[in-house]
Amino acid sequence: MGKRANPMAVKAALTYDINEAAAALGKSPATIRSWIKDGLPVMSSRKPTLISGEAIRTYLRAKYKAAKRPLGPDEFFCSGCGGARLPVGMAATVWPMQNRTVLLKGACTRCGCTCTRMISKSRLGEFAQRFRLSNKADSEP
Ligand SMILES: [Zn+2]
Repeated sequence: MGKRANPMAVKAALTYDINEAAAALGKSPATIRSWIKDGLPVMSSRKPTLISGEAIRTYLRAKYKAAKRPLGPDEFFCSGCGGARLPVGMAATVWPMQNRTVLLKGACTRCGCTCTRMISKSRLGEFAQRFRLSNKADSEP
């Protein structure tokens, strides 16, 4: 892995296009594009691609945390007890995010907090084979 970008190098309240984000973080535009493919949410599918500083921070923090110990295919990340955990009952709610990303939310088997995993929408079918997924709207009263 190359040198890590500092999430604090971008301002949470600003939006960045790919070149601006690359310059702020000391990365190449190709790296920013690979992050977008990997799940960094962008603000609109239209050009120019804009990314909020807040999204970049969240993405980088999650990415670097996950890199300490990569998530297994069945694992979510729990920020409550700080690690890779299985969701209770292998059940998760699907929260649509911007663009091609969804957030899966389950309950941590260790501490009961919400554990999450952000995946690309295209992987939902694959995850539906391992998890009992329900849509956010279906689980609301
Ligand atoms: Zn936990």
